[in-house]
Amino acid sequence: MYFTTTRIHQELNGGTFHDVIISEAHDPFSDHPFKGNVDIDALENLIQEVGADAIPYVSVAATVNLAGGQPISLANLAEVRELTNRYGISIILDAARAVENAWFIKQREPGWSGHSVAQILKEMCALTDGAAMSAKKDSYANVGGWLAMRDPELAEKARNLVVVYEGLHTYGGMAGRDLAAVAQGIVDSVQEDNIRARVEQVAYLAGCLQDAGVPVVQPVGGHAVFLDATAVLPEIPRAEFPAQTLAAVLYLDSGIRSIERGAVSAGRDPATGENRYPKLELVRLTIPRRVYTQSHMDIVADSVIRVAKQGKAITNGLRFVHEPEALRFFQGRFEPVAQWQHGVPAPRPGASDLILQELS
Ligand SMILES: *Cc1c(COP(=O)(O)O)cnc(C)c1O
Repeated sequence: MYFTTTRIHQELNGGTFHDVIISEAHDPFSDHPFKGNVDIDALENLIQEVGADAIPYVSVAATVNLAGGQPISLANLAEVRELTNRYGISIILDAARAVENAWFIKQREPGWSGHSVAQILKEMCALTDGAAMSAKKDSYANVGGWLAMRDPELAEKARNLVVVYEGLHTYGGMAGRDLAAVAQGIVDSVQEDNIRARVEQVAYLAGCLQDAGVPVVQPVGGHAVFLDATAVLPEIPRAEFPAQTLAAVLYLDSGIRSIERGAVSAGRDPATGENRYPKLELVRLTIPRRVYTQSHMDIVADSVIRVAKQGKAITNGLRFVHEPEALRFFQGRFEPVAQWQHGVPAPRPGASDLILQELS
């Protein structure tokens, strides 16, 4: 499944993105334990259709953010490895949340419960040719990330580009202090008590919402709770962005900042210029690591439940007043299509201003 910033870089480099995730990933209520798996037949069909030479790499995301933070299994990754070996295609791991993925493998995949998360993570990496990491995610860093490659010649080429664009890799785009923080973060990230506390905090929030009948994506992922906006706001047409509307209404209710993961995030088709409407029209409540307490989660749950109860009364959504060309969800501005009559709360004084957006 696509990821916003990853796909724009693929497209800017002349690539065409193809989704080869299993179909269960597009169904918010399927409880498949590994909705991040690759559909092996779909991948092989694609290879045969376009030819192996036209595929620079298979990008395997662990976990798959836009499907709801869903993991890939080691068994499936081994199948992807076997298939790509046959065709001589590389696998690059998007490792932003690979530690959480390893945690889910330990909990869910037969044969792995006795292994440490660090061992499972290494096993995942062993099946790939390289990795790209946004270290702001599992590695707790303030900024930055890294690129890793098994092929020393390719690594040398990448290092040369770093010198051109950022400076020498020891002191360039990332300062030494930040590199040290990332290194420590990698060590911290595989401590299993840390991961357990995080994943269970997310599950706690999801449980509060589910108990109140709020539709959330199943199974609950490791980094976020995803709300099914088309179910919460059933009266709003897709062209008026139900998920963006839900995020706006939540903000008005309680100051909680969530993020749309639906048609606004999917952007326009570069060929036709039309809005893309992915099956999933979601609001992501992304929980930053080591920032909030259980009581903060209770405030979030109260607000989401309050808004969801009024959902049917909110009958119109939003339109763009400013639509950036690339990654429009970051800087776009919106207005209600018509005056909101019912159900939408006036901004509450002293709203909580909990930030559940990107840096999570
Ligand atoms: C955040 C993220 C990225 C991109 O990282 P940036 O640091 O925002 O460039 C890529 N893939 C996944 C899965 C992410 O969560």
